[in-house]
Amino acid sequence: MSDAFDLFVIGGGSAGVRAARFAANFGAKVAVAESRYLGGTCVNVGCVPKKMLVYGAHFHEDFEQAAGYGWSLGEKPVFDWSTLIQNKNREIARLNGIYRKLLVDAGVKVLDGHARLLDAKTVQVGAETFSAKHILICTGGWPQIPEIPGKEHAISSNEAFFLKELPRRVIVVGGGYIAVEFASIFHGLGAKTTQLYRGDLFLREFDIGVREHLRDELLRKKLDLRFNTDITAIEKRADGTLVAKLKDGGSIETDCVFFATGRRPMLDNLGLENTKVELDERGHVKVNAEFETSEPSILALGDVIGRVQLTPVALAEGMAVARRLFRPAEYRPLDYTMIPTAVFSLPNIGTVGLSEDAAKKAGHKVKIFESRFRPMKLTLTDVQERTLMKLVVDADSDRVLGVHMVGPEAGEIVQGLAVALKAGATKRVFDETIGVHPTAAEEFVTLR
Ligand code: FAD
Ligand code: NDP
Repeated sequence: MSDAFDLFVIGGGSAGVRAARFAANFGAKVAVAESRYLGGTCVNVGCVPKKMLVYGAHFHEDFEQAAGYGWSLGEKPVFDWSTLIQNKNREIARLNGIYRKLLVDAGVKVLDGHARLLDAKTVQVGAETFSAKHILICTGGWPQIPEIPGKEHAISSNEAFFLKELPRRVIVVGGGYIAVEFASIFHGLGAKTTQLYRGDLFLREFDIGVREHLRDELLRKKLDLRFNTDITAIEKRADGTLVAKLKDGGSIETDCVFFATGRRPMLDNLGLENTKVELDERGHVKVNAEFETSEPSILALGDVIGRVQLTPVALAEGMAVARRLFRPAEYRPLDYTMIPTAVFSLPNIGTVGLSEDAAKKAGHKVKIFESRFRPMKLTLTDVQERTLMKLVVDADSDRVLGVHMVGPEAGEIVQGLAVALKAGATKRVFDETIGVHPTAAEEFVTLR
């Protein structure tokens, strides 16, 4: 048995790296085991490379719009997928190095390998075993693809980032964040893109105004967006073409089927059976408010507990755990209200707080303020894209319960508004705030 650690972290993703670094900075003796890539999903196959592809896809529109401002690009712009992917890979490798350095500089022992629990205080990595006072499970999630005939011909987000070439035709299945973002990416980069969602309207938990507005914008951009449909089987022809069979009996020929149908907690070969750690009804690690599992020495956080699967939440959870264990005077429980989020579709969604529906269900009498307009940047172009801004206000207290936007830079704009909502801003405070002119964001303080 090697060293005894104060904290042994399994998984070097957003949650694990944050918890490990801060615990070490607070004086704890810490190890992190990472089996795949430092930085986890977000850095390697999530937020960061995704945003790079979104930027890449956006140029398509930028080139189109430039003409209205007098720019002529000569021949039709040409896109090269392999350049984008190589440059992205180089940047991710740089970030992997930065993550390693951050950990090493903080005094954390980094173990490259799969970790398995032998009991409530012992972890095995390769041929070595380590004992620890506290063990943190931060193993994240993994894409799940429905069990249909031919599923082996389909890809998930993990593979999408490393495709050898941009498919000429692609079908994206799902109606959550990943499906919506990747449909915009493929469409923007020039693939003939079809998005299939099993329900009436995608982005189930989002405000209805946002969902309808994004649907209309995507259809206006000629994305082949279909609702109330699903793939029941995939066949591969000898020439490599895929044929997706649909539940209504129809079929679509394509070069790539991409399932973005949710993620499961990553618990493979983790050795949970050697401990008393319990799972909840959805299969996530069950924890209490302090992130403790049913086994007192083992804690869990991040995507593996399935609360809010966003990087900033994983970071905040990591910080909270590090403080509670090693700097209790600075510990404050995490507040899960008013978490802002963006969907990096084209156009973006930015949102914080309650949707109109959720506010009504929570018993609020709501007042809705809404504006739809053509962004100023588009006025010299032929592009008819419209932006949506919406406030959900509690009629009795005047408090702003929710802010919702679909339009360029929605994610950037909503971050500041999240501070206002967190501080309990009323509609009157919005009204008394002076706008920044001329911007799109100023609409949020002029809604009457
Ligand atoms: P992860 O980042 O998944 O880290 C878990 C780590 O544990 C992995 O590195 C894994 O290799 C390692 N591991 C697993 N098992 C073991 C083991 N037994 N031993 C050793 N190591 C192990 N969130 C946002 O906020 N904004 C976005 O724009 C965004 N975009 C996303 C796009 C995509 C395509 C995806 C898939 C996710 C996106 N997310 C985004 C979500 C975000 O990536 C996750 O919420 C976040 O990464 C969760 O962090 P985590 O530390 O819990 O898990
Ligand atoms: P989501 O849970 O957001 O969406 C899954 C989608 O797949 C839903 O539309 C769901 O439909 C559909 N679905 C599930 N099972 C099936 C099935 N068997 N057949 C057909 N459709 C199915 O998961 P994602 O994979 O998109 O993303 C995972 C999480 O990662 C997100 O929830 C988010 O927390 C995070 N993320 C954040 C991003 C950001 O911040 N910008 C970007 C990407 C991911 P239904 O609604 O009917 O259940």
